[in-house]
Formats: sequence, structure tokens, C-alpha cells
Amino acid sequence: MQVRILGAHSSEAGEMRMVSILIDGVLALDAGGLTSSLSLSEQQKVKAILLTHHHFDHSRDLVTLGANGATFPSPVDVYGLRQTLDMVNSCLLDGKMYADFSKWPSKEKPFLQLKAIDPLQRRNIQGYDVLSVPVQHSVPSVGFQVTSKDGKSLFYTGDTGPGLASCWQHTSPQLLIIEVSGVNEVQDFLRSVGHLSPELLKEELGQFRQMKGYLPRVLVIHVPPRFRSEVEKEVKKVARELVIDIDIGYEGMKITV
Ligand SMILES: [Zn+2]
Ligand SMILES: [Zn+2]
Repeated sequence: MQVRILGAHSSEAGEMRMVSILIDGVLALDAGGLTSSLSLSEQQKVKAILLTHHHFDHSRDLVTLGANGATFPSPVDVYGLRQTLDMVNSCLLDGKMYADFSKWPSKEKPFLQLKAIDPLQRRNIQGYDVLSVPVQHSVPSVGFQVTSKDGKSLFYTGDTGPGLASCWQHTSPQLLIIEVSGVNEVQDFLRSVGHLSPELLKEELGQFRQMKGYLPRVLVIHVPPRFRSEVEKEVKKVARELVIDIDIGYEGMKITV
């Protein structure tokens, strides 16, 4: 499984883009920095998008993908919780700010095909086994475990606060892509809005190791551009304390699972 980080940040600046991850060129996890990272021919190869939740930094490029889709031969499936798709439909693809690409070019055969998933539902999507696992965030959110046919798997939390132990019982990935949205100094605030600091990350990883007896390769994304260097320092400290490697994601990063 080839994983490419398209966007590794919670906002954008220069080369830093909002969150989006591409698996084997065909399956995208979130769509914050999807079209801004991919050429037209690469966009055309994307067959399905899994949305962890509706927030703008995870869904924005659905609009620009829809706009480009006029020239694409096949539609794109967009999976998310019913609440996520309702919000995307009523706010992002509302047909007022721009065209509603979930009803275009026709209601019967739209370019963006919105498909609701349930929490803890297991589905075969583009040949991958996909499991959605609820996480604690400010709006209904799920993380995704994606397993390829040859048994390689990753778990992507999306945006989440503490309390991932309930997730860990459902997943045993080789790669964990997890968020850190700020520095330890504002940990209480981060916790209150459903995000992790480096210290909170350490607690969650500690629980994973306790429950599972191992830690997967860990990749941190969703870092705010403004605090990137401070977050990096604090995450590296956590890595030393846990005696593991933790990578900080960046745009264009490629990982083979
Ligand atoms: Zn969010
Ligand atoms: Zn976010």
C-alpha cells in the first residue's frame, strides 16, 4: 500500500495544505488538500473519498474536484457519516456558493456520489476493507482503518480528542496516522474542542501499547502551520519518552505500508 500525504496541516500557507491522504492513487482520506496537490490526470484516478467529518479543512476540495469532474470519464464516490454528508450537502455543496456537484451533471448520475456509512460499518471500497470507527471530536466524526488485499493496514483518526481506547479495540494497524492540533501549553483548550496536544498523544499511544502490546509506525498530521516547529519539538520529546519514532507529516511525503 502506497500512502502519499497530500496535506498535513489544519490550515494552509505556502506549500502547507489542509489534510488529505491518498492511498495507491485511488482512495483519498479527507479532501482538504486534494485538488491543490494533484495534477488533473492524478485527480481523474481518484475513485473514492472517505470523509472523517464535515469540517472545512477536511472537505473543501470536494468543490474544486467537482468543478474539474466535467472532463472526467467516471464519477467519484464520497463516503461519510449521514450527518457529515448532510452538512456537506447543505453548506459546501449548497448550489448557492457554487454548483452542487452531488446533483450535477444530473440528479440521476452526479459526479460526486454521496454514500452514507454507519459507525463501525465494514465495507469493501475499491477493493480495500474499510472500517469506520467513531472518535471524540466537536462534531460527529469517525476514523478509518483501511486494509489492502495483501493484508497491509493503516488507521487514520481524522480529528480527535482523547479517549481513543475505544478505537484501539477495533484496529491493529501497521501505520497510525493521528492528529496533533497544537502545543502542550493550550492542552486544556485542545481537549475541550476535541483535539490532541503532544502530551495527550503520548497518553493515547501509551494506552495503545498497553492494550495491544506493540505500537505501529506513527505519523502525526493536522498541525497548524503557525505552530509547526513548536509542535515538532514537543512530539519529538514524546517519541524519546516512549522510545519510538514518530514522524511529522509533510506535503509530498510517501510511505510504503
Ligand atoms: Zn474537525
Ligand atoms: Zn481539522
